[in-house]
Amino acid sequence: MSEEQGGTIEGLLNETRTYEPSASFTSAANINDPDVYRRASEDPEGFWAEIAGELDWYEKWNTVMDWNPPWVKWFDGGKLNVSYNCVDRHIKGWRRTKAAIIWEGEPGDERILTYQDLYREVNQAANMLKRLGVEKGDRVAIYLPMIPELPITMLACARIGAPHSVVFGGFSPDSLADRINDCGAKVVVTSDGGYRRGSVVPLKDNADRAVENTPNVEKMVVVQRLGRHVHPVRMRTGRDVWWHDAIQAGNGGYCEPEQLDSEHPLYILYTSGTTGKPKGLLHTTGGYLVGAYLTSKWVLDLKDEDIYWCTADIGWVTGHSYIVYGPLANGATTVMYEGAPDYPDKDRFWDIVERRAVTVLYSAPTAIRGFMRWGAEHVERHDLSSIRLLGTVGEPINPEAWIWYREHIGRNETPVVDTWWQTETGAVMIGGLPGITTMKPGSASHPFPGIEPDVVDAQGESVPLGQGGFLIIRKPWPAISRTVWGDDERYVEQYFSKFTPDIYFTGDGARRDEDGYYWLMGRVDDVLNIAGHRLGTMELESALVSHPSVAEAAVIGVSHDLKGQAVAAFVTPRGNVEPTWDLAEELRQHVADKIGPIARPDRIYFTAELPKTRSAKIMRRLLRDVAEGRVVGDTTTLTDPSVLEDIKKQYEGTEE
Ligand code: ATP
Ligand code: MG
Repeated sequence: MSEEQGGTIEGLLNETRTYEPSASFTSAANINDPDVYRRASEDPEGFWAEIAGELDWYEKWNTVMDWNPPWVKWFDGGKLNVSYNCVDRHIKGWRRTKAAIIWEGEPGDERILTYQDLYREVNQAANMLKRLGVEKGDRVAIYLPMIPELPITMLACARIGAPHSVVFGGFSPDSLADRINDCGAKVVVTSDGGYRRGSVVPLKDNADRAVENTPNVEKMVVVQRLGRHVHPVRMRTGRDVWWHDAIQAGNGGYCEPEQLDSEHPLYILYTSGTTGKPKGLLHTTGGYLVGAYLTSKWVLDLKDEDIYWCTADIGWVTGHSYIVYGPLANGATTVMYEGAPDYPDKDRFWDIVERRAVTVLYSAPTAIRGFMRWGAEHVERHDLSSIRLLGTVGEPINPEAWIWYREHIGRNETPVVDTWWQTETGAVMIGGLPGITTMKPGSASHPFPGIEPDVVDAQGESVPLGQGGFLIIRKPWPAISRTVWGDDERYVEQYFSKFTPDIYFTGDGARRDEDGYYWLMGRVDDVLNIAGHRLGTMELESALVSHPSVAEAAVIGVSHDLKGQAVAAFVTPRGNVEPTWDLAEELRQHVADKIGPIARPDRIYFTAELPKTRSAKIMRRLLRDVAEGRVVGDTTTLTDPSVLEDIKKQYEGTEE
């Protein structure tokens, strides 16, 4: 970090397109009064307390926020239950017969659970967990495919006050064992398997191997998703029980929800591992639910008549907050899909949107860039006229991908909300309100009401508009994670020690433009230093993606004698584009034309895939390791190790 430059990051991108919401969208939006920003910033605690009042509490809180930096409590003294708020309160009125979850399996099977169905299932599952010995405070690990038993188990845990830890079904036995041991889970809920791209994912077999090394695990509950004719599994007597047996063992009746303190642990969830070893973040009850509830209502604009689909996996925080807790707290209808976007064909998503008449779609830049690469013809086969709002999360969205999403999925009509947030933040932090905000493609626009971010230099001073720097948050918000499970020190060190203990450091770089819009510039760890200029990855990559032959790109800095660092770009071409030397030359020039000669990549490497986390984020640190000839760092969250091997070969082959 060069101190003389104050740790700022230079902005190069010049994006001037703007998109206003239509008058009809605005008039119908859940929030359309811009004054909400002023109200929330003048009295954030009053603002959050008013929202918390929209949920059901057994006992009201004494204090809204109790802040002893970096530790915070929200709604202390209040008592509530998340499963009550997500399920019970909706069955008292007409929503009882409304679809809560519309589930579609990869082979095409479906289950639709009304709120009444969900209520019954959650109660039964909660009783089952109790019978298996799970008590308030005990941890339950959930290793399931995207099937209804996943949210049912989460809500059942919440009902009895047993924090859950969902482990993405794509993780290996070792990664599962690490997470089970780290959170000290007593029970594991898994299934005989799931479907992914037409194949079986053997979850129970993996779980069997994992629990060989997890002394705490007493019981394993196994959901039968596949059946023994598809994939038989071994059940260990005394330890393993089938879900369908265990759930019927009791009378299947009502399970009184625990009246939990607002700060009672709700779940532990591990980050994606993009920048290093994953962190197991703890989220608690009241504040988290307030955050997930309100952002779903305002950013995703969820209404009773919506069919809402978030394409993330519940194994990530996006799935926790925006498939399960946020939508259900709003009494919304949430779609869940088990499988891959290209099975049986590359139009599966659009087929689902058309058949289910999805109105609000929340997806990710990687997915969108994948669709761009596959070509618009897969989209055009379907009627997507039901869609009225699009959202994106997970990585910076390149302006070109934003425009493609709006044009091809949103008929050039719908608002697109880019939402910046993290596992740590629990809920959306920066992102427009679709009925209010004029959007700029590539910008996450404005902080959510009541959130106070800033962009600062290495000394923690705010940088002027137009400049880049470190993205920080100045005040606590209700859904902030409370600690790294079992490791307060790591929590403080990671998030509250770069500046003063009251400043949350996000690890991301950002720039605010002249109008105050936030542009995420990438991870601070990934910043390049070219001839004394500090450049974020986002703008260089966006320049590459704006070329019609490019679907996706990752840039890194590699040591260079004269410049300090040189730009190396890893590029995935679109559809049937041939990677040639001429194209590489053209791309280098394109970047120089778009954002300036300083950014011209020294080297372009074509690759069919980029190394990504299992949550589909580009892992630039591994590309750097390859480029610098180092032993590659933690790869446990890498999706496909062969991608890195291919890049390594290519890289070494071109070294002179
Ligand atoms: P780890 O913390 O283990 O390195 P991770 O940061 O990828 O993993 P997540 O919590 O899943 O784990 O991801 C949060 C990060 O994703 C953010 O810090 C940011 O870098 C990126 N991100 C998420 N949404 C956006 C967005 N809309 N624009 C830009 N970046 C985003
Ligand atoms: Mg992170």
